[in-house]
Amino acid sequence: MFQGGQKELKETVLDTGLCTGCGACINVCPYQASYRDWTVVLHHCDLAQGRCYACCPRTPADPGSLLPRFYDAADLTPELGAVKGFYIARAADEVVRRGAQHGGTVTTLIALALREGLIDAAVLAGEGDALLPRPVTIREPSAAVRQGKSRFVVSPNVAEFNRTAQGDAERIGIVATPCQAQALAKMRIQPVTASDGGIGKLKLVVGLFCGWALSWPELTSLLGKKTDLTAVTGMDIPPSRYHALEVYTKEGIVRVSLDEVLPCIRESCLSCGDMTAEFSDISVGSARLPEGWEEARLWNQVIVRSERGRELLETARRQGVLEFREVPAGNLEKLKAASLNKKAAAGRSAARRDAGGLKERTG
Ligand SMILES: Cc1cc2nc3c(=O)[nH]c(=O)nc-3n(C[C@H](O)[C@H](O)[C@H](O)COP(=O)(O)OP(=O)(O)OC[C@H]3O[C@@H](n4cnc5c(N)ncnc54)[C@H](O)[C@@H]3O)c2cc1C
Repeated sequence: MFQGGQKELKETVLDTGLCTGCGACINVCPYQASYRDWTVVLHHCDLAQGRCYACCPRTPADPGSLLPRFYDAADLTPELGAVKGFYIARAADEVVRRGAQHGGTVTTLIALALREGLIDAAVLAGEGDALLPRPVTIREPSAAVRQGKSRFVVSPNVAEFNRTAQGDAERIGIVATPCQAQALAKMRIQPVTASDGGIGKLKLVVGLFCGWALSWPELTSLLGKKTDLTAVTGMDIPPSRYHALEVYTKEGIVRVSLDEVLPCIRESCLSCGDMTAEFSDISVGSARLPEGWEEARLWNQVIVRSERGRELLETARRQGVLEFREVPAGNLEKLKAASLNKKAAAGRSAARRDAGGLKERTG
């Protein structure tokens, strides 16, 4: 299944605006590279079958038929993939929370996995220049705190995983957006990659919920008109009733209407039906709480999907590095509804594409 080479990758993904920039096709051969938030072909390759095509999250694959290969059948739901457990959690350590996007659960889990020896290296998205993230591999638990916060432009973390897997790390963890987690799942099952040892080193996927990522040229062009980009310290998208992107700067918060932000969404994200990183061991997103956004933003919603994810969360609970609060009634159902909406929107987007309504790629 999924057979093709660079030619097919170019025709069906890179030239059609479907590339997510995840980096799966990079550092597996010398022919593709990341440039800003794009994947570019450096040299023509005439292999009929390539790892680049096989592992791309946007080449044909049916997630519904892939999920049972990784998760307990009893845990599978049509809306969210596997759900072993659903929690509201945050880092117990205030320092971690201060450097994090929301509750610091992701940072805590990665640091814990490194400390416990579950992994000996972790691939994260660090801060680059001018809002362009830079994937990094860390070895020390304390380094996870410095890479906290969400960067709303794609970071080619799978390319960094491919690079790190060629080195001396034996057990690698990664923080991945849904498309990146899908790429890693495809790498695990493709015959074309089974012989290459790298993917066997993948021991932990902490997935991020993700509505969409933004195109770097379009985002910087928009925000450059609103604020000094060098003063931006972070950003977030509060619940939909705020209808805004909040940009945190050294001088205060700049609120940008979603009407201006939505045209900056990466074309490929419109066809993505995975809101919660279904191919992860554990997935983390922002919380929804009855007290409202000001409290909710300090917590995370967490979906445990695999036995490994469950063990990690229970270790975090035992060691007291994560705090938990009761999940409000209806939260899981609301998340399921939001996830189904994304799947439906992705279906509509794919249908429009098939009908030839493809938005011209910009940049
Ligand atoms: C593009 C994007 C869109 C998102 N959309 C949603 C959404 O619609 N709904 C929702 O609930 N949550 C969304 N999130 C997730 C949310 O912003 C937080 O990352 C999540 O709640 C975890 O919070 P935390 O405090 O535990 O994270 P932290 O402890 O701060 O850790 C965040 C981790 O994410 C890594 N990271 C940052 N940016 C990226 C990136 N671009 N790619 C890969 N890794 C990255 C960092 O290196 C860090 O390790 C999105 C995240 C991203 C990157």
